[in-house]
Order: sequence, then C-alpha cells, then structure tokens
Amino acid sequence: MAQCTRFTCSHCAFGIDSWDDGNPYFADAAGKRHYFYHPGGESAMRAYYQVETALLMETKTFAEFAQERSGNEGDWLCENCGRQTQRDPRRDSMRCSGCKQETLIANSRLEGRPCPKCKNGTFKGEFTGIS
Ligand SMILES: [Zn+2]
Ligand SMILES: [Zn+2]
Repeated sequence: MAQCTRFTCSHCAFGIDSWDDGNPYFADAAGKRHYFYHPGGESAMRAYYQVETALLMETKTFAEFAQERSGNEGDWLCENCGRQTQRDPRRDSMRCSGCKQETLIANSRLEGRPCPKCKNGTFKGEFTGIS
C-alpha cells in the first residue's frame, strides 16, 4: 500500500504528488537500475537475485546481494529551479541536474516550503489516497 499526499502552491496552480514508499530498485552489474513496484515487489526482487547471481556465478545470499545492489529512489524537488527528480540519497549526488545547486528537498517535506515556480506561495499538503 502506498499513500499519496498532494502538495499544492497557495499562489499558483503548481502541484506535486508525494508517495510514501519511493521506488525500490536493484542495480545490475553495470549499474543500471531495475525498479520493483508493488505489488509483488519482494518476490520479483528474489527472482531478479536468482537470475543475476546465476549469470555472474556468484554465491551470495539474498541479504548480501540486497545489501550491495538495492536502493530506493525517492521523489525530490529542486527549491531553486523547480525541477523534479528521483534520487537515492544513499548513493546519488544530491546536486540538481538543472541548475547545479544542492537545493533538492524530498517531496514529503514540502509542507509550508516556498514554491519554486512562482516564488510567492507556499506548499500545502492534502492526503489524496492509497493505491
Ligand atoms: Zn507557486
Ligand atoms: Zn535546480
């Protein structure tokens, strides 16, 4: 179950959805990320682990493999230029790919923050549902 909160600017119409569960992934040997969305995320991740370790002839446990390869990308907003992006703060640079500033904020923390689009309003969150 994922919960969604929609943050809307009090001045312009700019709105952003914040999902509470992020985007879980495994990186493959080349670093490319494969995403596992619910439902069935856990069993799909185990299936991926089996294929990948067989391919590389590795003898890792699922826990070791997950430790090395897994991550979770959240949704982030640049407070400087308004660009939306997905990042894993444990592994990724937190510099905005648009304006090159380190001004990313997690979508879940937008309550009361200034709107980067119009620079006049602030965000207000409203619970919008579960999927
Ligand atoms: Zn605004
Ligand atoms: Zn930016």
